[in-house]
Amino acid sequence: MANIHRIRILDVPLDAVDLSSALEYVEECIRNEQKRKYILAVNAEKIMTLRREPELKKLFEKAALLLPDGIGALIAAKWILGLNLARVTGIGLMGGVCDRASKKGYKIFIYGGKEGINRDAVSQIERRYPGIRITGRSHGYVGENQMDSLVKKINESQADILFIALGSPKQEFWIQKYSPHLNVKVYQGIGGSLDVLSGQSKGAPSLIQKMGLEWLYRLIKEPKRIRRQIVYPRFLFEVMKEKFMKKRGIS
Ligand code: UDP
Repeated sequence: MANIHRIRILDVPLDAVDLSSALEYVEECIRNEQKRKYILAVNAEKIMTLRREPELKKLFEKAALLLPDGIGALIAAKWILGLNLARVTGIGLMGGVCDRASKKGYKIFIYGGKEGINRDAVSQIERRYPGIRITGRSHGYVGENQMDSLVKKINESQADILFIALGSPKQEFWIQKYSPHLNVKVYQGIGGSLDVLSGQSKGAPSLIQKMGLEWLYRLIKEPKRIRRQIVYPRFLFEVMKEKFMKKRGIS
């Protein structure tokens, strides 16, 4: 059994897991013919959103695996719980899954992003992981009236894994609504990862990622993100408050 331990940060669930355990878990789901197991990524921004949105939080509670994706979540785990978590990004796990899939023949469907982004991301993945079986793909702007045919297309692809890139919370609500009609074994919500994989939007260089400054890099590239990143100081404040209360035995 994969080594996964669920913890809570500011009462939001998150899994203490490393990349190899996460990959082991995905393979277990495929081997055991699981259904409707979904994997989501958690970062500081998501933690703050889930505190405000109980319906979305419920979907996260039910996730099979919640990746410690952001540096803020790691800092909070260290400060509040004294835990040194490994960082497992959504795009990192996706790469690992594609690598295993190319070696073991798992079938993949990729849903989300603009048509050109989706197409280019699929070509890049096929180039990077020779032999991978991407048995279907679709852009992420399918209307509600076309959903039946998308569901049919996904089932006909016999995909074991569905990568879904609609951004959050759209992808989580889509999984909740449509997974009962699908035969997919594992879903992974990958947000904007196809934009990076297609080459359209550059991921932060690895040195910047290691320094924990990815948020700053993204902010400089996309100043509009300030509206989303404004939650970080508030998050740090809440984490410090929680640490203080814990120290005093208040919580
Ligand atoms: N997207 C989509 N369909 C929609 C809305 C969004 O496919 O109806 C895609 C969009 O093209 C982009 C991704 O979802 O590729 C959202 O990226 P973002 O970085 O906002 O997601 P996050 O990782 O922050 O959840």
